[in-house]
Amino acid sequence: MKIYIVALLLLGLITSSCNAGSKNNHTDNASAQQPIKTIDFNADSAYTFVKKQVDFGPRVPGTEGHQQCAEWLVDKLSLYGADTIIEQKTIVTAFNGDKLPINNIFAQFNKTATKRILLLAHWDTRPWADAETDKSKHNTPIPGANDGGSGVGVLLEIARCLGQKQPSIGVDFLFTDAEDYGASGGDDKSWCLGTQYWVKNMPYEVEQLPVYGILLDIVGGMDAKFHREYFSERLASRINDKVWAMANASGYGSRFINRTEGAVTDDHYHINMSGIPCINIIECANPMTSSFPPTWHTLKDDMNSIDRNSLKAVGQTVLNTIYNEQAQ
Ligand SMILES: [Zn+2]
Repeated sequence: MKIYIVALLLLGLITSSCNAGSKNNHTDNASAQQPIKTIDFNADSAYTFVKKQVDFGPRVPGTEGHQQCAEWLVDKLSLYGADTIIEQKTIVTAFNGDKLPINNIFAQFNKTATKRILLLAHWDTRPWADAETDKSKHNTPIPGANDGGSGVGVLLEIARCLGQKQPSIGVDFLFTDAEDYGASGGDDKSWCLGTQYWVKNMPYEVEQLPVYGILLDIVGGMDAKFHREYFSERLASRINDKVWAMANASGYGSRFINRTEGAVTDDHYHINMSGIPCINIIECANPMTSSFPPTWHTLKDDMNSIDRNSLKAVGQTVLNTIYNEQAQ
């Protein structure tokens, strides 16, 4: 994904300060409600799912690690009780002319429920460590523990929990491919190739469309804090309200900061453009960098950069959000 550091970020800051007064009442009311008893999101399990992905090696389209990881993801979703699994395979052309064999992996839980939500994360990893200061490393693929692995690991643990206790709503999972094959500093459309394909070929009838979506990306960093990302706020602020209130009510208010920071071109942007309101839970205002964590797009994005407590804060918040949704 790509971050807009200057103009849009400033807009985002202005938006957040403008909204602060009017939003407070709503958020406070929502957070005053105690969440219903839900089930425990197991951070160790999520951590193991991140490690398993990293152990496959870089998940760059066309590589063996990519293929092995796809098979493992499908097996896991099946094991945890998905009603439907669709592997949406195609070839897309990257900005540099590379032909990428991609696979968007889609699974539905509680398929007969009319009200549904969509949870997504990209499962591919960046083929270039082009944020390394040492240019000789720029063509080496990143391990992708946080950028790629963390979102998928949290979603798989949520899928495991749904297998234990069926929610009243339907939950769809989408593991998107070729998110991170974009041109650094280049065209926005060079990113999120899998999602761009998916929104043109969505496996939904109109009446089955999810009411909203939540994207998880870079959610496993050390002591990660999550802010209301700019495009999420502009396009789906109601969902930000809901999730940030749930985080607060679940005891993670110190992790989910109720302020707009960062503007990120990511999968959620395309999901929004398709008509499904979608937010992005992403660490994009790290205090050391003012954007993504310092390991982003470097060879240090390995298991040493993963914090179980960050996985827990995000996973439990999303799980509580699911179980607190009313069926209608
Ligand atoms: Zn990335």
